Amino acid sequence: MTGLSVRNVSYAYGDKRALDDVSFHVPQGAFCALLGPNGAGKSTLFSLLTRLFTTAQGVIEVAGFDISQQPRQALAQIGVVFQQPTLDLDLTVHRNLSYFAALHGLSGRTAESRIAAALERLDMAERASERTRDLNGGHRRRLEIARCLIHAPSVLLLDEPTVGLDAAARSAITQHVHDLSAQDGLTVLWATHLTDEITPDDQLAILHRGKMLTQGTCRDIKGDQPLQQVFLSMTGAAT
Ligand code: ADP
Ligand code: MG
Repeated sequence: MTGLSVRNVSYAYGDKRALDDVSFHVPQGAFCALLGPNGAGKSTLFSLLTRLFTTAQGVIEVAGFDISQQPRQALAQIGVVFQQPTLDLDLTVHRNLSYFAALHGLSGRTAESRIAAALERLDMAERASERTRDLNGGHRRRLEIARCLIHAPSVLLLDEPTVGLDAAARSAITQHVHDLSAQDGLTVLWATHLTDEITPDDQLAILHRGKMLTQGTCRDIKGDQPLQQVFLSMTGAAT
């Protein structure tokens, strides 16, 4: 199966069960919001999807590759933006990208054309020579998204990429990543606790205390209620 597939995955930190028999599927080219309050298990799931952690319980397939059987092929298909920023602030925008390209064995004209395309895609082309430290929070995040495109992955994983940003930066980034799925056919898993980043056409998976409560299209899950209300009544989480 293509896209992203998670079946019966569990994970515990010692006695603390962080993921409990989690299953969901994101079809190729879909934007799926992984919605859950703090502590739901979103980042733990990302650690499993990127193979920072491994688990014997369950199966994860990325673009049809089983992550425990074919880790190299599976990981090559993944572009990831972690919850904590990982840019080198002392390097220019371009150098952050060329360094990442080199780590993936890309150089010369291939690297330059990938870098130019990624910066263009995120409306960052005119900032290539700026020092990363001089960028605002929204542009730093956009640079991280540009970086995760450099090796031409088919599945993007973004862990709360808008946390700490103002409303304008948040909506610009949310729109950019929706476009990457709608226009470029990338499969996206977008972890968030903010319902206003999710549109009715998106796929939605609601995670709470390590359990997948529901999944489907946002429109079907919320019915004619505001998503925020549905989310709160399912999780009992305070705003
Ligand atoms: P989220 O990203 O949705 O906020 P996390 O995956 O970070 O959730 O955490 C899920 C649960 O696992 C929480 O109860 C958290 O306290 C616990 N947890 C996360 N990391 C660790 C760790 N390194 N050791 C022990 N417990 C952890
Ligand atoms: Mg988290």
